[in-house]
Amino acid sequence: MQKSRLKVACFGLLMLSLFQAQLIQAESLFSLKGTFIQGGLVVGATEAGSKVFLNEQELRVSSDGYFVFGLDRDAKSGDKLVVESPEGLRVEKVLTVEPREYKIQRIEGIAKRIMQPSDANLKRSREENRQVGVARKKDLNLASFNESFQWPAQGPITGVFGSQRVYNGEPRRPHYGVDVAGPVGTLVTAPASGIVTLAHKDMFYSGGTLILDHGHGLSSSFLHLSEILVKVGDEIKQGQPIAKIGATGRVTGAHLDWRMNWFKRRIDPQLLVPAMPVQVGE
Ligand SMILES: [Zn+2]
Repeated sequence: MQKSRLKVACFGLLMLSLFQAQLIQAESLFSLKGTFIQGGLVVGATEAGSKVFLNEQELRVSSDGYFVFGLDRDAKSGDKLVVESPEGLRVEKVLTVEPREYKIQRIEGIAKRIMQPSDANLKRSREENRQVGVARKKDLNLASFNESFQWPAQGPITGVFGSQRVYNGEPRRPHYGVDVAGPVGTLVTAPASGIVTLAHKDMFYSGGTLILDHGHGLSSSFLHLSEILVKVGDEIKQGQPIAKIGATGRVTGAHLDWRMNWFKRRIDPQLLVPAMPVQVGE
């Protein structure tokens, strides 16, 4: 009787120490780097061969163990990240997201044709949205998301991520990009390497539109372009000229609208780049 009780106790102790060892190892299973704020992007590093899930969605892990995910404009805390090592260790982390306050931006003088699109134009913009959706859904095996991003163009910032837009007094969808003003024809360069997944000369709302995929669901979109210098499938290096600033689509002046997405989630590009260098003549 005594002996078997001792055995049980020993077994219990053994299990407890094994459990503790697992907990300690779990702590070092992965690391995260990024901004846990609405519109933020987070890059994770783990052991190659691990499996990573965000809620129920399995994330692509690069051959050297990197993964990425974004926090949407209106993200709330509570997303669950799960990492499973090749040895079968499993760890969960519930994410905390800092909320933001977004600006309200009023824009007057938008053409009636754009404010109240005809049925034909509505149909056209729906089809164009579908094409954009297809491009942003891609999950390419490419780890350019891990580069240090740089501004695709320099100039005064005239619009910021997330702001609530009011066109001719009517509240509309929030603005998801960062707007950089610049003369028509100014070169736009790749903020990071990637593959071109969409190049459209003239979309109804966004005019000349280009999407550059940085891998694992992260993409940059460039809107209102006057010219596109690359084509779908091109492999682009960081800093390479890809397009020219324009005033095409729904705009009141020439500017680059740079948007970033992690799949459907909207990311704030400004969180990924250094402060805009001071402009001469500003
Ligand atoms: Zn814009």
